[in-house]
Amino acid sequence: MPPRVRFAPSPTGYLHVGGARTALFNWLYARRHGGTFILRIEDTDMERSSTDMVTAIFDSMTWLGLDWDEGPRVGGPHGPYFQTERLDKYRAAADALVASAHAYRCFCKPDDLKAERAAAEAAGQTWNYDRRCTRLAPDDIARRVAARESHAVRFLVPAGITAFDDLVHGRIEFDNANIEDFVIIRSDTYPTYHLSVVVDDVEMQITEVVRGDDHISNTPKQVLLYVAMGAAVPKFAHVPLIMGPDKKRLSKRHGATSVGEYETQGYLPEAMVNFLALLGWNPGGDQEVFSRQELIDRFTLEGISGGNAVFNPDKLDWFNQQHIMRLPADDVLRRIRPDLEALGWWSDDLLSTRADWIARVLALIKPRAKNLSEIAPQMRAFLSDNLVFDDAAVKKHLSDPSVPAHLQAWIAVLETTPSFDAASLEAALRALAEARGIKPGVLIHATRVAVTGQGNSPGLFEVLELVGRDRVIARMHLPA
Ligand code: GLU
Repeated sequence: MPPRVRFAPSPTGYLHVGGARTALFNWLYARRHGGTFILRIEDTDMERSSTDMVTAIFDSMTWLGLDWDEGPRVGGPHGPYFQTERLDKYRAAADALVASAHAYRCFCKPDDLKAERAAAEAAGQTWNYDRRCTRLAPDDIARRVAARESHAVRFLVPAGITAFDDLVHGRIEFDNANIEDFVIIRSDTYPTYHLSVVVDDVEMQITEVVRGDDHISNTPKQVLLYVAMGAAVPKFAHVPLIMGPDKKRLSKRHGATSVGEYETQGYLPEAMVNFLALLGWNPGGDQEVFSRQELIDRFTLEGISGGNAVFNPDKLDWFNQQHIMRLPADDVLRRIRPDLEALGWWSDDLLSTRADWIARVLALIKPRAKNLSEIAPQMRAFLSDNLVFDDAAVKKHLSDPSVPAHLQAWIAVLETTPSFDAASLEAALRALAEARGIKPGVLIHATRVAVTGQGNSPGLFEVLELVGRDRVIARMHLPA
C-alpha cells in the first residue's frame, strides 16, 4: 500500500526552517512512493493560533512547491483538516476510551494539582498524579457527569514497557512506570495534543509519522493510545533537530528562521528545497546540487542521520548561486520582472525582439548572483543610461592625466572596428595598448568604469558587445 504521511503544523508562528524541512521530508517520501501527503492544521491551542499564520504556512509551502493531496483548500476524504473543526471526534474517542476502561474521568481541580506538584518539586521530589479519581464510585462519577461538573479525562497507563522501532534512531523503549496518567481531554473539554494527533492519524490512515526529534518523548504515550484504540501503530521517523553554526538550537539569533523571509531575500525555492533536504538527510555520494525530481528519486527515510544537522547560511547562499546558474534565462527574467519594473527598466520587447539579447545579458550576470534580488540592480549598464559611478573606481582608473589621450585613441578604434563582438574588441584593445606602450589593464579598467560606472563587472568585452557600439562610444566621452 502506498504510504500516507502528513505534516501537522500548529499555526502559532510562521513556517520556520525546521517545520519546512519536516514538511519536505514527508513530501519527498510521499512523492517517491506514489503516496499521499496530507496537511493538517493543529489549531486547538486557540489562544496562540491565528488565521494569519495559517495563511502564511500555506503560502510558504506553496512557494516551496510542497503541494498537498489532502488538506485545507483541496479537501479529501478525511476532512475537515483543521483540528478545531474535529473536536467531536476527539470527545467521542475519549468517551470510548473511558467506556473500555483505558481512561477515566478526573474531577481534581487543575489548580490543586498544580499546587501539589509545585510543593513536591520544591521539596526536590518528582510528582505524578496518584490516580485518586480511579477510586471514585461509579454512581458518584455518573452523578457528577450528569451535573456537568467540569472534569478532565486521563489515560490509564498500564504497567509494562512501551517500545517502537524508530526508522532513524532504531529501537526506543520507555518504562511505563515513568509515564503519568496523562490528560487526553482537559477540563475545558478541549483535547490535548496526544489525543487529537492519534485520533487524526488513525482516521487519516497515516502509515509513517515523520516529525522532529522533540516529539520522541511524546511517542510512547501516543503508542499507548493507538494500542488502546485497537488501531495499527504507524512507523515513526524522528528527524534530528537543526542547530545553528554554534551548535545551539536554531533560533532568531542565527538570522532569518522563517521561510517567508528567505523568499523576500531573493532565495530560490529550488535552492531552499535542496538545502533543507540535505539538513539531516544524506543522499550518499558526492553530489550536492539536486533538482526536485532528483531528490524525489533518491529520498529514503533510512538516509536520515541520527545526529543533529547544522544550518550553515553560507552553504544556503552557495546552493542559491548554483540553482540561479542553472535557471534558464527566460525563467530568471520572469522571476525578476517585478524588480525591473520597480527600477523602471522593464519593457515588453525584452520578451520578444530583445529576448535573445537579454538572455545573453543574464548569462553574464547570473553566475555572479548569490540571490535573485541581486540580479536586477546589476543590469543597470545594459538597461539604463543613467549610470551610478563608484567614486573610488573613478579615482583609481580615470583620474590619471594620461587617461584621456588613451581613451581618445580607443574611441577612434571603437568607431571604426569592423565587427563589435567580444573577441574582435579584445584583440583591438590589446593591439592598441601595445602600440601605445601601456598595459591592456589601463584601457580595460578605464573602459569598464566609463561604461558601467563600476570597478567590477562581468567580462568587459562581453559587456561592450552587449551594451552596443553607440552607447559604448557615448559613455566613453567622459564629462570634462
Ligand atoms: N502540531 C505538532 C507540532 O507542530 C505536530 C506534531 C506531530 O507531527 O505529531 O509540533
